Amino acid sequence: QLPVIYFVTPTYPRREQIPELTRLAYTLMHVARLHWIVANDHDTCTQYLIELLLRFGIPYTHLASPMPSKFRNNKPAPRGVANRRAALQWLRQRNITNGILYFGDDDNTYDLKLFSEIRETQRVSMFPVGLIADYAVSGPVVCKGKVVAFLDSWVADRRWPVDMAGFAVNLAYMAQYPNANMPYKPGYEEDLFLRSIGLRMDQIEPRGSNCTEILVWHTQTKNKKAPTVRFSREYLDERSN
Ligand code: UDP
Ligand code: MN
Repeated sequence: QLPVIYFVTPTYPRREQIPELTRLAYTLMHVARLHWIVANDHDTCTQYLIELLLRFGIPYTHLASPMPSKFRNNKPAPRGVANRRAALQWLRQRNITNGILYFGDDDNTYDLKLFSEIRETQRVSMFPVGLIADYAVSGPVVCKGKVVAFLDSWVADRRWPVDMAGFAVNLAYMAQYPNANMPYKPGYEEDLFLRSIGLRMDQIEPRGSNCTEILVWHTQTKNKKAPTVRFSREYLDERSN
């Protein structure tokens, strides 16, 4: 039987949330043996998400995973970190040590081929992500079937300069690292998470025809703040009567 893919999606309340999750759900509906962990950056499980998630018929778990308030006004804020940590805790509490873990944000675009590629992950697989920063791609450099380096517009001092959507982890492998976690450190979440699971360069499994194919894109939706809503004079007059 195919290993289950645990697809962890951080999300947060804003007016683009329902369209993003709808678009993503209609991709995930094509994928067998997938469990969708939807971790919302909010104090409670909200009714509109409860109703939305039920409609898709995808096996899912809805978590309320608010960003700690002390980080809320940081610039940059640790976006999606509380959510992913909650998902890691959920997996650990249930002792789920079989299957594949993938961090899939609510606004990215996923080719269905990605799922068959990551399903084969033995320890950690990696692959390029499109539309990342200046280079418009971030991903491993492969030589003779082995990952030897990384191309990324912002390498900084990261040992693993990869995007969150650019790797998948086998949970049996991760179980060997009970302290695996993601820190609240914007820009360094991937690097420090991968360090926390003891990753070594020679273990990385390149996917997507030796990392030559782009199967996931870091698309971003233009956010718009909700304006103050005004009603017409007639309506207000009628209501005040
Ligand atoms: N996110 C969140 N809380 C926030 C901002 C973002 O949970 O306050 C989620 C968002 O839904 C997404 C992930 O964290 O799944 C990364 O955020 P975003 O897509 O805004 O970051 P970027 O694309 O700029 O890396
Ligand atoms: Mn994003």
